[in-house]
Amino acid sequence: MRYSVLSLAAQVFRGPSALTPAWRNATPKPAYDVIIVGGGGHGLATAYYLAKEHGIRNIAVLEKGWIGSGNAGRNTTIIRSNYLLPGNEPFYEWSMKLWEGLEQELNYNTMVSQRGVLNLYHSDAQRDAYARRGNAMRLSGADSELLDQAQVRAMYPFLDFENARFPIQGGILQRRGGTARHDAVVWGYARGADRLGVDIVQNCEVTGFLFEGGRVVGVSTTRGEIRAGKVGLAVAGNTSRLASLANLRLPIESYPLQAFVTEGLKPLIDGVITFGAGHFYVSQSDKGGLVFGGDIDGYSSYAQRGNLPVIEDVCEGGMALMPLLGRLRILRHWGGITDMSMDGSPIIDRTPHPGLYLNAGWNYGGFKATPASGWCFAWTLAKDEPHQLNAAFRLDRFATGYVIDEKGVGAQPNLH
Ligand SMILES: Cc1cc2nc3c(=O)[nH]c(=O)nc-3n(C[C@H](O)[C@H](O)[C@H](O)COP(=O)(O)OP(=O)(O)OC[C@H]3O[C@@H](n4cnc5c(N)ncnc54)[C@H](O)[C@@H]3O)c2cc1C
Repeated sequence: MRYSVLSLAAQVFRGPSALTPAWRNATPKPAYDVIIVGGGGHGLATAYYLAKEHGIRNIAVLEKGWIGSGNAGRNTTIIRSNYLLPGNEPFYEWSMKLWEGLEQELNYNTMVSQRGVLNLYHSDAQRDAYARRGNAMRLSGADSELLDQAQVRAMYPFLDFENARFPIQGGILQRRGGTARHDAVVWGYARGADRLGVDIVQNCEVTGFLFEGGRVVGVSTTRGEIRAGKVGLAVAGNTSRLASLANLRLPIESYPLQAFVTEGLKPLIDGVITFGAGHFYVSQSDKGGLVFGGDIDGYSSYAQRGNLPVIEDVCEGGMALMPLLGRLRILRHWGGITDMSMDGSPIIDRTPHPGLYLNAGWNYGGFKATPASGWCFAWTLAKDEPHQLNAAFRLDRFATGYVIDEKGVGAQPNLH
């Protein structure tokens, strides 16, 4: 069914019995041209663009749980393209352009809301660094504005400007940044891929790889062996665990990252705000809750839950930025597993094993990358070479020294 006002009106008269599922819950076939492991946003977007842009239709997405049960359904939904380095900025700006047309592309309400992302600065040096970043963004066609304190005050008068330990001096604003509804992005790509013939197989965990003559020719799963011409991994926080089954040791460590939602409030924050003197960011969902988060937990784990010290740390950051937060009650909090790469930038590349391809290293920030990641990974899988946009996201850059260290902090996952 194509969604439109007319089809909605017709549905009202037909009643619920005429509703059809948005995608099929497929049973795996013995073989596919391409298998994508991981039914998060990236895996589903990859399958969609492989079918749509490259005409490859015999594809399966294998998901060990239900689609969107990983980070895709657990993130704080921020999208932006405010990067500095040439390896990153054109890729993220392409992602932003894909976000801007996504609802029309998928015929699905992914609730893309360009409500603006404001990064605060608290010192002259930080202002200068932001000015440089903003200029780099503009060179890649992105939008960016440097605001002084008065301009930020006019937007968000309730922030702690003067009394705080780190007074707010201003901010860098990307008006085209904002949020998108994470679940809807998963469902929209799933529906789009399904309509192009992709099999979405849930409750199907990949437990190993089939090799023939050094080439990956399929996967073993909890639902039997499935052969494939090519296998692409898009399993985010489980990347190092899964890659080890193919004898690959990757420059990725997995850490829990938590997120929080307060009780619903009247409209208070109409954009996204990030604290520049600590790790805290906040926006307000359309339901009214403040959605916020901060640092990763301080230890590696594959558990989708976090620990109390980081909750305290995040709330401290929040209180330092906007003291009104102390009056609110937290309604829910949860954790996901982030695939932290050693330079804070992703990997979209072939692997040393012919037939096996890798999409990983998304750190805190892979949700915003979802459209471009799927688009570029599909290109790499279809053509056996990277697109110019992901040419820098090579797996061997940690051996060759061509790292993309956006923050200049070295191989320290907790500082990316
Ligand atoms: C709390 C939190 C907040 C975040 N906030 C933001 C944000 O505001 N903005 C932003 O840009 N990014 C954010 N991120 C990061 C972003 O969510 C991730 O980088 C991105 O979702 C990762 O890609 P994905 O959607 O494909 O991953 P996932 O949704 O994790 O997909 C991977 C899938 O692989 C499946 N899988 C794993 N192992 C196997 C196996 N062996 N066999 C089959 N399937 C398997 C998993 O079940 C999972 O569904 C946040 C992350 C977290 C945890």
